[in-house]
Amino acid sequence: MKIRQHPRMRDIIIGDEVYSFPQQLFACVEEVFPAAVCVRVGILSVNGHLEMIHSPQLWRADDIENLSVCRYCGSRDNVQVEHGTGIPFRVCSHCRRTPVEDRRSSHGYDGPDW
Ligand SMILES: [Zn+2]
Repeated sequence: MKIRQHPRMRDIIIGDEVYSFPQQLFACVEEVFPAAVCVRVGILSVNGHLEMIHSPQLWRADDIENLSVCRYCGSRDNVQVEHGTGIPFRVCSHCRRTPVEDRRSSHGYDGPDW
């Protein structure tokens, strides 16, 4: 039996920072599966006293964006945080020089359109 890998999972390695759109949470990748990642999410819990719980969660590849690579081409070289979106997407030096309109078409970007 062959498990098909989600295209987004190609670029994700353990330790990458990912953002979950439905949960609106950031987390670090702990384990990589063909179509999902296992992350550990810090949850602040109030049970008589304040406590930080690190709860493992499985996030589907469809729901996440890898923040450790360039959001346009997936490169890890010279990536910097792109400001102005509220989410710390990273962009490589090559894509920073490319006008925004040209990035999506030339790299086949298929993420959420916002
Ligand atoms: Zn790039």
